[in-house]
Amino acid sequence: MPEKKPEKLTSNESLKEYDIPDNRHNFDRIWALLKEEYPDAKPSLNYSNPLELLVATVLSAQSTDVQINRVTENLFKKYRNVRDYANADLREFESDIYSTGFYKSKAKNIKAAAQLIVERYGGKVPQTMEELVTLPGVGRKTANIVLARAFGVVEGIAVDTHVKRVSGRLGLTRHSDPLKIEKDLISLARKEDLDSISMTLIYHGRKVCQARKPRCQVCVVKELCPSSILFLRE
Ligand code: SF4
Repeated sequence: MPEKKPEKLTSNESLKEYDIPDNRHNFDRIWALLKEEYPDAKPSLNYSNPLELLVATVLSAQSTDVQINRVTENLFKKYRNVRDYANADLREFESDIYSTGFYKSKAKNIKAAAQLIVERYGGKVPQTMEELVTLPGVGRKTANIVLARAFGVVEGIAVDTHVKRVSGRLGLTRHSDPLKIEKDLISLARKEDLDSISMTLIYHGRKVCQARKPRCQVCVVKELCPSSILFLRE
């Protein structure tokens, strides 16, 4: 009797059934291919100082950079310094950022973060991981982005939903906790690449290794990806 063909798997859910093998030994080859594919992987948020980057990054959760840039074009003209955010009328601020989604919690966090920056950090966005993560709404992901982009300090790797999904599918980590994923990736990468890993994986996650339907057929690392057999089989 002919063997029954496995059903084609198309969602991330499928991976729960499949124990992705450890593929860390292939990291260097995977990274070389991805770097070649996305040589200019940079965040596309617009900002002109550390505070604007911090605000834009907090706003960007669950939204797109294009949408955030649309909103911040006017926002940054209206709120020019940290005191403008700290003293903002919460209702008015909520309506200013309404279209970014989750506007209530984002407005509350940004206002509270600005107040803390004024009270504790002399009105300047702090430049260390320890201090940045004390700000409401700022986790390691946002702190890593602000440190690297605003201050040129590369402490770690910003792990968002794309980095988490792509590194998991590639077998570069077995963890789902962002901090553990960050540690796994740091242990694999060269120091000089730390800054670009996050954006490169984000680009790949947006363009090819998409959550619902990864485009493995056109993926430059499909030969090295242990998950490709799941999505390519028919
Ligand atoms: S082969 Fe498929 S699952 Fe693996 S990284 Fe590429 S798109 Fe993602």
